[in-house]
Amino acid sequence: MKRFLIPLTLIGAALAVFAYNYQGYCRGRCTLRGFGLFGPFELSMLLLLPLLLLFIGLLKWRRSRRRAASRCSCGTPLAEDWSYCPVCGASRHC
Ligand SMILES: [Zn+2]
Repeated sequence: MKRFLIPLTLIGAALAVFAYNYQGYCRGRCTLRGFGLFGPFELSMLLLLPLLLLFIGLLKWRRSRRRAASRCSCGTPLAEDWSYCPVCGASRHC
């Protein structure tokens, strides 16, 4: 759980910096350019957000996959250093 909190904190910090910069950018230039037009900064934001979501999804997927791997096909949870299931005797990597 703690391992997952670190990237989340980093993402939160990155989003805060983005929001701050975006606000400053809008105050300075959006009035000159007008609304409705996408500049390079807005476009990079639009591209970065799905990438960020994809990254979070990948982390969750890897976590759930690891959890599934530490469980025998009979349903017994296996410790990291166990090679065989203590209940049914099946190999961990089958
Ligand atoms: Zn088993």
